[in-house]
Amino acid sequence: MSDTIFTKIINREIPAEILYEDDEILAFSDVSPQAPVHFLVIPKLPIETINDIQPNQAELIGKMVLTAQKLVKEQGVAEGGYRLVMNCNEDGGQTVFHIHMHVLGGRALSWPPG
Ligand code: 5GP
Repeated sequence: MSDTIFTKIINREIPAEILYEDDEILAFSDVSPQAPVHFLVIPKLPIETINDIQPNQAELIGKMVLTAQKLVKEQGVAEGGYRLVMNCNEDGGQTVFHIHMHVLGGRALSWPPG
């Protein structure tokens, strides 16, 4: 696959507010926040969509959730509540084809989504 903007963020070719990084995971603030807290958790491995996740990547996906769990505590929204969202393909509203978990919090979020 061709590089997405997220590969450029991983490689520090474009700036981002990095919240967490390890060998496998990066978390950074969304450039267009939809809530007082809105950051993205991504694997460094460039998996295009949720449809492309393989069984042997289950631990990696689990690490994305645990990274979100750690950061919502740091951001002070763990107890108030938050939402994890992963969009897939056109109907899901995916615009960047490198899987990512949105973490949204800091205000009451409506449900169901539009
Ligand atoms: P999607 O619509 O694919 O689920 O979400 C992509 C997200 O990436 C959007 O919320 C968008 O604001 C964010 N985004 C797109 N380009 C950039 C960028 O260059 N920097 C950062 N920090 N976020 C970006």
